[in-house]
Amino acid sequence: MAHGGQRRAAAYARMAVVTSSDCLFCRIVAGEIPADVVHETDATLAFRDIAPKAPVHVLIIPKAHHADVGALALADPKLAGDLLAAAAVVAKAEGLPEAGYRTIFNTGGYGGQDVFHVHAHVVGGRPLGPMLAG
Ligand code: AMP
Repeated sequence: MAHGGQRRAAAYARMAVVTSSDCLFCRIVAGEIPADVVHETDATLAFRDIAPKAPVHVLIIPKAHHADVGALALADPKLAGDLLAAAAVVAKAEGLPEAGYRTIFNTGGYGGQDVFHVHAHVVGGRPLGPMLAG
């Protein structure tokens, strides 16, 4: 049986998505770079952050390439909703809603965004402190 990466690669080859071959998260969607996938739908993929900032730290992305959450919401509001729904499903599966957790979209330079393929950080499993550092 094909592993997740191969299945995603095959599905990706059939998808008419706007993508960028040098985008890290597009390459994860394509199965070219491995990821610890925890949830997948036709339109979204969720995988554990490679450098977790809390006991639970999962990234949720749309499979289609959009640079940031604002660009996604304006271009495809339905997909933005799918992304938020996937984040909620992941948070529930990770046991986060009872104690509380945070969903973060870093945007642009001041926002601390490093990867310009929109992603929600779902972070929890410990008290997260104030919303901003300083
Ligand atoms: P941001 O700074 O909001 O753009 O977040 C990018 C996140 O992607 C960071 O938390 C990184 O640790 C994470 N990251 C970078 N490369 C990978 C990867 N190959 N797999 C999983 N997470 C990654």
